[in-house]
Amino acid sequence: MEMLYEGKAKKVYSTDTKNVLRIEYKNSATAFNGVKKDIIEGKGILNNLFSSFFFTMLAEKNIQSHFIKKISDTEQLVTAVTIIPLEVIVRNVAAGTLAKRIGKEEGFIMKKPIIELCYKNDELGDPILNDDHIEILELATPIELKVIKIKALQINDVLKEYFENHHIDLIDFKLEFGKTADGIILLADEISPDTCRLWDSTTKQKFDKDVFRRDIAPLRETYQALADKLGIS
Ligand code: UDP
Repeated sequence: MEMLYEGKAKKVYSTDTKNVLRIEYKNSATAFNGVKKDIIEGKGILNNLFSSFFFTMLAEKNIQSHFIKKISDTEQLVTAVTIIPLEVIVRNVAAGTLAKRIGKEEGFIMKKPIIELCYKNDELGDPILNDDHIEILELATPIELKVIKIKALQINDVLKEYFENHHIDLIDFKLEFGKTADGIILLADEISPDTCRLWDSTTKQKFDKDVFRRDIAPLRETYQALADKLGIS
């Protein structure tokens, strides 16, 4: 089947079924807008495993996503959506770029979850946008943005509780949403340690892509240890 799109972490193919796509999780790891990159054997399998697991868990809580089913170690079928070019970041604890922006140490606990919206645009370096920018750029209507924010906070509640039960702090994560042919807004892309920050609740050991970004530990072993900790296989 025809490959429609190749991103940094996934390839997207058409299928015989209308409005159904096949996604293949790749073994490539990238950071800093693609400046740092590596091929990591087994990464595609792990991220397909994580993403399929979290999308299934959310569906059980009535939060629908583009995910239909996992069809192989590295592939899943998804509903075709037009991706809204926004990185929707939910944060419970300051880390990464937020810690820098507000002048707080990584680990600063915020009194409520906050949402940041970044323009998914590599050329511009994914700049942060406010609601007005999003409206004038026509990336989403104010009503669509409201729906996206409500869904993002609901997803945070579900994921945060799940990780807490496994002794892991959900520090922050990035979501992407898309629009179906009928105009319905659906959670899309992936949920994996590539797109979340996850720290052991006691030791604060990192179980996410920061180990690769910051050369802290080998990525595959870290993701495998997370899968083991969560009991996902
Ligand atoms: N994130 C992501 N893709 C991006 C940018 C951020 O998945 O292109 C995730 C990142 O893994 C973290 C959260 O969004 O869980 C917040 O990232 P931040 O803005 O602190 O930027 P970073 O430090 O990752 O550059």
